[in-house]
Amino acid sequence: MKKKSNKIQRIRGFALALVFIGMGIMYLGVFFREYQIIFSLFLIVGLLPILLSFVIYFWVGMISTRTVTVQCPNCEKYTKILGHVDFCQHCKEPLTIDKELEGKDFSLDYNVDHRRNEAIEEIKKESAENNQTK
Ligand SMILES: [Zn+2]
Repeated sequence: MKKKSNKIQRIRGFALALVFIGMGIMYLGVFFREYQIIFSLFLIVGLLPILLSFVIYFWVGMISTRTVTVQCPNCEKYTKILGHVDFCQHCKEPLTIDKELEGKDFSLDYNVDHRRNEAIEEIKKESAENNQTK
C-alpha cells in the first residue's frame, strides 16, 4: 500500500526509522554480551542502518536544493515539490509542475520520465481528437 505523503517527509521518516532499527539491533546484542564475537557483530550490523540514515539525511539535504517551492492551491501554504508530482506537505493535495498534467488523475508514474511523456502524448492526442469532433 502506498502512503500518501510528501516525498521529502517520507525520506526523512525512512531515515529516522533506520536509526531506530540500528539501535534495536545493537540492543539485541546485549543478550549475547557473554559472546564477544556475536556481541560485536550485532554492534557492527546495528551501525550499518545508522550510517545509511546519515547518508540519506545528507542526500535529502542535497536534493532539497533541487525542489520547487510552490503555493498549494488547496491550503494556500507553501510546500516543496520533489520531482514532477508530489503531495502537499500540509494537506496531502497532489500537486504537479507540469501544465499538461493538471487536472489529470494523479499517478506516481509521472515521476518516471518516459511514462510521463507517454501520458502527456496521450493527453495531447485526446484533446486533438476532441477538437476534431467539435
Ligand atoms: Zn496543501
